[in-house]
Amino acid sequence: MMIMNCRSMVEFRAKMGIRWRKVSVQGQGGRRPDAVNRRHPMERPRDRDLQEVFRLIAASKNGLSKAEIVKKTHLRHLAVTDAVRTLVERGFIDITPHTHDELTMDDAVSIIQSRFCVIGLRILPSEVLGVVTNLRCEVLPIGVAGEELTAVKDLPDGGHDVEGVVQAVAELTQQLVDQIPEGYSVLGTGVELGGHIKSGTVVYSPNLQWRDVPLRQRLEEVLHRQLNAEQHARFGPRGSQVIIENDANALAVVSQWFGAGSERTSFALILVGDGIGCGLVINNELVRGFGGMAGEIGHLVIAPENPGLVCRCQKQGCLEAIATIPTILEAIVRAKKANGEDPPATIADAVKLAEKGDKLAEEAFEVAGDALARAISYLLNLVNPEALILETYEPMVTQRLVPIVTKRLRRYCFSTVQKDTDIPQNPAAPERGAKGAAAVMIMELLSQRLPAEQAGRTRHLADPERGL
Ligand SMILES: [Zn+2]
Repeated sequence: MMIMNCRSMVEFRAKMGIRWRKVSVQGQGGRRPDAVNRRHPMERPRDRDLQEVFRLIAASKNGLSKAEIVKKTHLRHLAVTDAVRTLVERGFIDITPHTHDELTMDDAVSIIQSRFCVIGLRILPSEVLGVVTNLRCEVLPIGVAGEELTAVKDLPDGGHDVEGVVQAVAELTQQLVDQIPEGYSVLGTGVELGGHIKSGTVVYSPNLQWRDVPLRQRLEEVLHRQLNAEQHARFGPRGSQVIIENDANALAVVSQWFGAGSERTSFALILVGDGIGCGLVINNELVRGFGGMAGEIGHLVIAPENPGLVCRCQKQGCLEAIATIPTILEAIVRAKKANGEDPPATIADAVKLAEKGDKLAEEAFEVAGDALARAISYLLNLVNPEALILETYEPMVTQRLVPIVTKRLRRYCFSTVQKDTDIPQNPAAPERGAKGAAAVMIMELLSQRLPAEQAGRTRHLADPERGL
């Protein structure tokens, strides 16, 4: 083998016409590459690691050892140790059985189920639905007899009156606080609703016809004022904090935790209801976008040439003008009336008609499924997620739409995108939205710093009395 010295190497490169540039190391701060990702052991773990470790422990029935967590998450030992230590400090998890303070790789850790809880609320135009969950996001029984899982409060005026909704949500929260089992401390309230949400403000909700409503701030103010001393005492040290989330995002979070999204690093959850939303999880993280508007698939313009399709956002030809539950039902009702036939009263009746082979009903679902597939194909081509979860709160509608969308995606998607995307079943119970809001609140708790962490100090194990 010929070995060239430096000089002959330069001559060789010049002869071959190769030009060289020096690599700039600016921006790396002159650190060695192996030092870039190294954290000080006392620093707080990354939110993403903390959430992944927490979700895994919460989903396991009998607890997990650190060694098992390392194996399942592919995180480094140090990252798992940091995350576990932080969760123990907060009083969220404990070593089982608790015989010593030093954690080893084989010790099992599990969620402490009967210490903390959160409230989850789902705001619809007609009602607010609420649940209380433990930190495993399991719905706790409430009610006078302790037999109910959800509480519902009706909303007048289709939810258009902001202050009326704020008052109703605050009252429902107070009722839920009164019914929380003894011994639990409430860590906060998660609220979900359809629309564009940014940092606690409802920028625009077509469902409720709200614009620029600082909902989190208003709810926190009203709760702070209205909670009585006994109710205040049920909350943890951070008080009655509130978080607001888009409805599809809340469902994506709960699906990532327990549903068809678990065991997947990326998926898109499409929620078809009065509107059409999308929760997008990429590399295990919910993507909200710069302005909180990522995943607004319902307002992709699918049919701009059709003047009859005006969306609630006033644009022409949005997906929502074609494929929401009300627009599907309206299309069938219109067609039936034009044909001199009895129209269906509900979407369930419409599905039954289609199942019996009614051509008009079948056609309406085909049109909606085609529009959905067209919009979803844009998303799949752009993001290439592992799975697509199509969800409605009407299981019969989901069953009707999924085969149509799957078939049409073959026509609209590029290359192998459609074949590569799994479309799993993910049945939606009515309380899942509220449960999703609770899950978002729990995830938010993991992002918040303890006073000790803010001061740069950590403790080895938690003082259970201190909690958060
Ligand atoms: Zn629109």
